Amino acid sequence: MSHDVLIAGETLIDFVPERAGSLEDVAGFERRPGGAPANVAVALARLEELPLFWTRVGADPFGRYLERTLADHGIPDRFVERDSGAKTTLAFVTHDETGDREFTFYRDGTADTRLEPGRVDDATLSDCEWVHAGGVTLSSGSAREATLDLLERAAAADCTVSFDTNLRSELWPDEGAFASVVGDALAHVDVCLATVSELEALGYEGESATALARAAVEEGPVHTAFVTRGSEGAVAVASADAPWPAATVEHLGFAVDVVDTTGAGDAFVAGAIAALRDGDDLEAAVAFANAVGARATTAAGGMTALPTRAEVAALLEAE
Ligand code: ADP
Repeated sequence: MSHDVLIAGETLIDFVPERAGSLEDVAGFERRPGGAPANVAVALARLEELPLFWTRVGADPFGRYLERTLADHGIPDRFVERDSGAKTTLAFVTHDETGDREFTFYRDGTADTRLEPGRVDDATLSDCEWVHAGGVTLSSGSAREATLDLLERAAAADCTVSFDTNLRSELWPDEGAFASVVGDALAHVDVCLATVSELEALGYEGESATALARAAVEEGPVHTAFVTRGSEGAVAVASADAPWPAATVEHLGFAVDVVDTTGAGDAFVAGAIAALRDGDDLEAAVAFANAVGARATTAAGGMTALPTRAEVAALLEAE
């Protein structure tokens, strides 16, 4: 089977609290598989776009559980590494009274920070059409260099390179460090996916999501920028350098019964990749991605409510 898409980055355990409140006060948590790139990989598998996935888990029960979860979704184990010298990353989630999420990471020297440059060889990259990574593995350890090296070689191999900026403040000493390292990564990126606050943290200026997306594609090489806006959907801008028609589009999203927004952004990323690979124009791609993102909010957990193509089609038709 050919795998034209390669996703790279962390797979971790999210401990989701049984109720809102600070970590000091909440006693019960549920273990869920997570990590933004892992969610993207599984969401693509649900959309019948089975990708290769380069990740690294610890040689511990959590790592074995994550390996099993990825395998259950059909993800090939070729680039799923088990690190005998490190534990699996853990993230404790808290919700405040307004439903906003925060993460407390147990990620000092854990397996996904120890991804090493060169594990995905050039021959694999030359067989891939699309390579995607995100901001978390840029934050520390050898994974930073490994991610930058992958993006650089993927661009050199003429893959379409996409990147989710995915700012997790706790993983960075300050916003300047995030802006500097992610700025280096963006030098190899074609398609950037971000939120308004992430683009602002990167130093882009603009009065609206659309203006920020425009700023992000202005200098290149990023030619397409998606800006997600939670329940208000998303905007996207493609410049004349994009392989699809240049456009500025806005889609207001879908009204669904929201249970948990964890992983909505990752589902959106998978939807955008799948739609653009199908040959959709930017307007159709944003609508498709919003439908995948909206469906992902209808059950708890990042990998639970990921839709099939038939489910996405039903949501798009009901529009
Ligand atoms: P992130 O999960 O990265 O913080 P967002 O919250 O912007 O990103 O959500 C990403 C996408 O998921 C949105 O653009 C939208 O398509 C979908 N989504 C998120 N929250 C909702 C919601 N409450 N209702 C419907 N769709 C949503």
